[in-house]
Amino acid sequence: MNISKSLLLLSVVFFTGLQFSRAQSTDRTKVIPLEQFVGYYDVGVKPNRPFFKSRWYLRDGKLFTIYDSDRDRIFEPYKGGRLKPTIFLSEEEVSVTDEDSTYYQVLNFENDQLKSFRIIRPRSEWPTDLYGYRNEKLSKLAIDTEHALVYNHSTEHFRFHYSAIDTAVVPLLAQLLEERYTSLIESFQIKEMPITTLRIYPDQDTYHNAVLTPGAPGWQMGRAWDHDEIRMLSLVVARKITGEDMDLKALVVHEFVHCLHLNLIGEGTRAPGWLWEGVAMYKGCCDWTDVKSLDYLKKGKFPSLRQIERDRSFQMKYDLGYYIIEFIDLEYSWDKVLQLIISNGDIRKTLNLTTRAFETRFYAFLSAKYLN
Ligand SMILES: [Zn+2]
Repeated sequence: MNISKSLLLLSVVFFTGLQFSRAQSTDRTKVIPLEQFVGYYDVGVKPNRPFFKSRWYLRDGKLFTIYDSDRDRIFEPYKGGRLKPTIFLSEEEVSVTDEDSTYYQVLNFENDQLKSFRIIRPRSEWPTDLYGYRNEKLSKLAIDTEHALVYNHSTEHFRFHYSAIDTAVVPLLAQLLEERYTSLIESFQIKEMPITTLRIYPDQDTYHNAVLTPGAPGWQMGRAWDHDEIRMLSLVVARKITGEDMDLKALVVHEFVHCLHLNLIGEGTRAPGWLWEGVAMYKGCCDWTDVKSLDYLKKGKFPSLRQIERDRSFQMKYDLGYYIIEFIDLEYSWDKVLQLIISNGDIRKTLNLTTRAFETRFYAFLSAKYLN
């Protein structure tokens, strides 16, 4: 927000008479077609600093929005032919106080398209608002990605939505997850777990669009979308792409462990990669890497946790995560792994060790067990 606008906002708050006369300027009975809301938006918590995406699309003539890690939500801007009172069509009309517990939207239309928006969130729940900007390039992809998921399958703890291509695979996935369910829940000491939904998309483009990363690299095939939802590519398609014989079904257990992890930490917490992937590989699936084959270890270069975290290839967390968690489990206890999840990787607090001392001990363990 620029300075003149924030001053204006102040004046609006203090001079309600002025705000009232400005509020009259929008004709709230003029209905903007929903097609004009449709688009891909770059979103952030500060003006002009987007870091994630939102897709607004039509399904059966209704407008839906989806934000990262959230569910698809219906958005009805009009009620009884009038724009809802929580929606403003210009910043000048906004009148909100810090005590307000309502969500408001400021929508800016230009050339018959929603150009940008601000979602004013209750200060009691959020320290910031959301700012969205139309992404012209991606907006043609603002479609309903759930369209093909017309098949449903439910078991005691899981619910599947998928397309025709995966009808043979889904019962096997369900069986595998149910077999592992009780021991995993107990491992993570989760008392109450919501039903976990799995959405399985029929092709790569649709999957990447569904998780709001259109054009993502091909190796991205599944994601724990939320604490109770997994989104993934069809296993039939994944097998064709990877050309591998490996049992891809087991990967779903890996994603489910990510969901369990999310049940233990606060919303919006970003876990360090070595902990996040390490736990999912160790308790879910799979330790792909033969550490003996890693060039950097052969050269005697043992990356610190910080280097693993900053690795630009994102590979080291998959190389070493499994072994870091195995080390903590065997040398300390599984309880310590759980505590580390809850402290979000705080080694000092959880293990009473400096990070440096931890790294030394870990590599001594790795060398003795695997590198000789
Ligand atoms: Zn993972």
